[in-house]
Amino acid sequence: MDSSKSQTRKEALRTLIVLPTLAGAIALGTATADAADNKGQFKYQDTPGSGGKKCSGCRFFKAPHGCSIVTGTISPNGWCIAWAKR
Ligand code: SF4
Repeated sequence: MDSSKSQTRKEALRTLIVLPTLAGAIALGTATADAADNKGQFKYQDTPGSGGKKCSGCRFFKAPHGCSIVTGTISPNGWCIAWAKR
């Protein structure tokens, strides 16, 4: 067998294996980053929303600074678009 053809096949096979693996790793990294901080996704702010709606009055609030939807530390006086009356 011609060694240059064999080398080309090896490179093609390597590309077929590496590219999907790389794409999966990038997708996984993006998903992990999104899960780490979703404040932007829910338009979280450290101040009350319209009508004085606050995290402390939301059913998803977990005292003293947590939320079952928005990740990370939140303020009891904050607000986001997922707000729902307690
Ligand atoms: S869902 Fe939004 S409004 Fe409700 S506690 Fe969490 S961050 Fe605050």
